[in-house]
Amino acid sequence: SCIRDKKSPKNIIFLIGDGMGVDQVYAALTAKKGNLEMARCPITGFVKTDAADNYITDSAAGATAFATGTKTNNGLLSIGPFGDTLQTLIEIAELNGLATGLVATSKITHATPAGYISHNISRDNYEEIALDFLKTDIDVFIGGGRNNFEVRTDSLNLSDILRQRNYNVVYDIEGVKSITQGKLAGLLYPDHPPKYTEGRNDMLEVSALKAVELLDIYESGFFLMIEGSQIDWGGHDKDSEYLVAEAVDFDNVVGKILDFAEKDGETLVVISADHETGGYSIIGGDIKTGEVQGVFTTGDHSAVMVPLFAYGPGAEQFSGIQENTDIFHK
Ligand code: MG
Ligand code: ZN
Repeated sequence: SCIRDKKSPKNIIFLIGDGMGVDQVYAALTAKKGNLEMARCPITGFVKTDAADNYITDSAAGATAFATGTKTNNGLLSIGPFGDTLQTLIEIAELNGLATGLVATSKITHATPAGYISHNISRDNYEEIALDFLKTDIDVFIGGGRNNFEVRTDSLNLSDILRQRNYNVVYDIEGVKSITQGKLAGLLYPDHPPKYTEGRNDMLEVSALKAVELLDIYESGFFLMIEGSQIDWGGHDKDSEYLVAEAVDFDNVVGKILDFAEKDGETLVVISADHETGGYSIIGGDIKTGEVQGVFTTGDHSAVMVPLFAYGPGAEQFSGIQENTDIFHK
């Protein structure tokens, strides 16, 4: 057992809004008519997101920075720019007896969650990334990407291996709801989950709260990463309505997580982004009606700093301007 002072948290929940800059946050605030859950956090800061080899990061280098505390080249997953393997927060937490989890609205093998569990020279090696889930003792993971585990060029069925290792493997949100203890692999879609507005509904909220419920059973404490993956895709598509719906879904989940942290009192909640996407800019709108008019200056990521929000024991160390790698060390 470990001894904690009052300022060090028992649990850490890190929420990543992929592609979520200040304008994406303000779009959610506007669409929610002023009721932004992130605003409940007393500590705010900014995060510099550049990669080792590029002024503008991708999600693989961004996840690696958060997961390992080291800046790497775009496309690499928790491998350094010189090819060295970088230990991830999930691996370190497991070594220290903590429970761990990953939840995403993309394939669970996609770059952001993959950065926490895989070591690969390419974010596109989805089948190899799926295999890396078997090399850890992660307790809960929920997202899409079932085909990367079950429809593979090597003919392995990784779900069968997970079941042999006492994971509950479920394929839909009702399955997620039905599990009340033990390990959980939620492979809810063959590929990526759909958009919030096209059938995903409350998948992120249900999955995030189930992960918290299952991980909170462990007395040792837990580390959980929750990603709103598709805010980024709204930016790539230059689709303001898509972006806003995803940012609102993410903020609603932030609210549920803050509700848990308030009751728990020993949980640090940090909310940030790996980078901004779309060079998104709000040029009009109305907080009374929730209308947002946004334009895009690029179909890719931008270089700008992203916002950070923190709540709970240890939150105060996250104020100011910091590197993405600082988040890991803090
Ligand atoms: Mg992502
Ligand atoms: Zn992107």
